[in-house]
Amino acid sequence: MKKILPYSRQWIRPKDIRIVVKALKDDFITTGWHIDYFEKALAEYVGVKYAVVVSSASAGLHIANLALGLKKGDEGITSPNTFLATVNSLTCTGAKPRFADIEHDTHNLDAAAVAKKITKRTKVLIPVHYAGHPCEMKAMRAVAKKQKAYIIEDAAHAIGSSYLGKRIGACEYSDMCVFSFHAVKNMTAGEGGAITTNNEEWYHTLKELRSHGLTRDPERMDKHEGRWWYEQHRLGFNYRITDYQAMLLWSQLKDLDSFIARKREIVELYNHAFTDVPELVTPVEKDYAKSAYHLYAAAVDFNALGINREEFMKRLAGRGVGSQVLYIPVHTQPFYRDLLKYKPDDFPNAQKHYRTNIALPLFAKMTNGDVRRVIHAVKTVIRGR
Ligand SMILES: *Cc1c(COP(=O)(O)O)cnc(C)c1O
Repeated sequence: MKKILPYSRQWIRPKDIRIVVKALKDDFITTGWHIDYFEKALAEYVGVKYAVVVSSASAGLHIANLALGLKKGDEGITSPNTFLATVNSLTCTGAKPRFADIEHDTHNLDAAAVAKKITKRTKVLIPVHYAGHPCEMKAMRAVAKKQKAYIIEDAAHAIGSSYLGKRIGACEYSDMCVFSFHAVKNMTAGEGGAITTNNEEWYHTLKELRSHGLTRDPERMDKHEGRWWYEQHRLGFNYRITDYQAMLLWSQLKDLDSFIARKREIVELYNHAFTDVPELVTPVEKDYAKSAYHLYAAAVDFNALGINREEFMKRLAGRGVGSQVLYIPVHTQPFYRDLLKYKPDDFPNAQKHYRTNIALPLFAKMTNGDVRRVIHAVKTVIRGR
C-alpha cells in the first residue's frame, strides 16, 4: 500500500544533515555563535534590521506582545481563522483577545472589519498571513494608526512571501513580525520561530525576554562587578533554540526560494487542472501579493456536492491523498467560547471558510507523479459521487 501524501511535509536534505552534524561538534551547542549567524542571514533575507530566533512562533508571539507592554486591561484583535497559538499569545499576557471577520477570498483578517471593532483599549492587531498570502497591510496600518495600536504580523505561514514587492518580515507596515519553523511550515528545524523588527529597543527587550529577562549588556545594567556579572530587569523565559537548529535553519533558508518556486509550480498545475472542476474553488493571489503557499487551501461546497467532508477526505485517503482542514475558527473553541461569549455566527466569513475549506498536499518535495495522483483523486472523488 502506498504511503498517504500529507498536506505538508518537511524536506531535510543530506546537505542540511551535514551542516547540523558539523554544528553538533562545535564547543557551543546552545547560545553560541550560530544563533547570531542565522539571525543576520534571516534579517538580510527579509530586509529588516533585527531578527531574534526563539523556540517557536508561539514563544515569539508571546514575547512580541510582552515587548509591546500588553497586560491585563488591554485588548488585541486578531483573525478567527488561525491556529490557537495566535490567540493564546494575547491571553498569556492577561490581555483580552477580540476577533474581527476575514475577507471572503483571501481568508485573511479584513481591515474594514477591524475598523468596526477597534477601540482605544485595542493595543495590538495581529493579522495572520493565511496560507502564505499576505494581508492587506497598508489598509491594516491605516486602521491601527487611528487608535495608536501596534501591529504584530503572524507570519507563521509566510516566510518567503512578499507584499507590494517587499518580503514579509521587513516590517514596513508593522511593528514586529513572527515566523514559525515548525515541521509543516515553509522551512523548518522541527520546532523554532523568529521575530523581526526595525526597532532597536524592542530588539534588546526580545533578547532579554527569550532568556529569563537576563542581560549582560553594559549599557542595560546598573553596574558591572566583573566578567561573571549579569542582571535581571524584567521577567523572562527560556525560549531559546539550539545552535544546531539555527544551522539547520540557515541551510534551509539558503534554498527557501527554490522550495517556494517548486511549490508555486505545483499550485499552477493544480489551478490549471481544476479549471474544469467547478465544484472546487482554487485559491486567489491578489495583485499586491506573492504567496509562499504554505498551504493549498481550496474550497468545496460539500452540501451542494452531496458528500460530507469526512467522507470526501476518507475517499481521498483511500487513493493515497491526505488532506486537512485549517482552521476551526478559534472563537468557537470551548475555552474561548466560554471566556469571550462569542457565537459561531459572529464571523460569517470565517464560519463559511471553515465549512468549505480543504487543504490538499503541497510541499516542495512532491514529485510530478504525486501531483498527478492528487489531481486524479480529487477529480475521481468529485465526479464519481
Ligand atoms: C504554526 C502556527 C503558529 C505556531 O507556530 P509554532 O512555531 O508551532 O509555535 C502560530 N500561528 C499560525 C498561523 C501557525 O500556523
